[in-house]
Amino acid sequence: MKAYFAQLEHAMTRTPSFDAKLAQCVHLMNTAGMSVSFMDIGATWLSCTLPVKGGPREVLLRAPDMAEQMKQTAYLGAIVGRFANRIARGKFALDGQEYQVSVNNGEHSLHGGAQGFDKRCWEIAERNAQRVVFRLFSPAGEQGYPGNLEVRVSYTLTDDNAMRIDYLAHTDRLCPVNLTNHAYFNLAGEGSEKTGLDHTLQLYADHYLPTDDALIPTGELRSVLGTSFDFSRARRIGTGFLSEPDQLTAGGYDHAFVLNPEVTDGVSDAAVLTAPQKDVVMRVATTQPALQLYTGNFLAGTAGVSRAYLSYDGVALEAECFPDTPNHPEWGAGAGMLLPGESYRHQTVYRFEF
Ligand code: BGC
Repeated sequence: MKAYFAQLEHAMTRTPSFDAKLAQCVHLMNTAGMSVSFMDIGATWLSCTLPVKGGPREVLLRAPDMAEQMKQTAYLGAIVGRFANRIARGKFALDGQEYQVSVNNGEHSLHGGAQGFDKRCWEIAERNAQRVVFRLFSPAGEQGYPGNLEVRVSYTLTDDNAMRIDYLAHTDRLCPVNLTNHAYFNLAGEGSEKTGLDHTLQLYADHYLPTDDALIPTGELRSVLGTSFDFSRARRIGTGFLSEPDQLTAGGYDHAFVLNPEVTDGVSDAAVLTAPQKDVVMRVATTQPALQLYTGNFLAGTAGVSRAYLSYDGVALEAECFPDTPNHPEWGAGAGMLLPGESYRHQTVYRFEF
């Protein structure tokens, strides 16, 4: 793997990043021979190689180098925040005060705004052979958000082939917080001709959030029963693809699935993604209430390490709170909000079997 790490690192440090400095990469390896790589820009999960039969298999999509990394708008592997997913018109009210945050997706705010956490250089606060901790300070007013925010994201590679992501954040003022990782998986291999749609998916979600044309949730929690959103039994993602208006709006799946409460303990399976040839299985466990299933509907044209990606080349399963929660008090007061003195603490685990 040494040559692979060196090549990846060379590509990401060939030119400076957003902060005019060279990125720093970190590689972790477990006793089973699985390895993962990260960089400080966006605390990005760059690579995940599985020692499958026939040699190491890269299962994450990534940019070919830093120049392309800086151009892409797919959030490949990055930590997104301060508020992952959309906030309608970038507006919300807290304690009677109106806030306007950065708008970067039509008239809406996506993944923290134009200069989200994915573009920031995170400090590498701790590292050892199987764990790296990234730290970020987001000052009050950044992208329009109130409150200073201290964030720590730690990635741990366990010997049972799990990548565990722990999120911790603190604020000094009430503010919306929603942090996730935006990795795109192709379990057949990054350079495979198989697409995300060829994968099989099981989701422990009885409801999903339908959206309007701009992909803002309407507020309804709709039952998946009898719809193409029903993944309660494992099935090929491409079966029933684009078969209903809710999918046509999004060009595929780009929806939050409401995880059944009993699976949000951070340990139980919330989702199971299986490779087209069934030789790799990825189990997702999380403490978050929702999983955004995004089939890479807007990926076309994104430069990738093996080629220019096409739409649907990878699948993102983003564990997060419901999109646009600050504007949906009906979903429960306080959802997606962090109070001073409280800790934002979440855990998401991607465990691989091969
Ligand atoms: C969103 C998509 C968006 C993508 C960014 C996903 O999390 O749901 O609508 O296009 O991120 O490329």
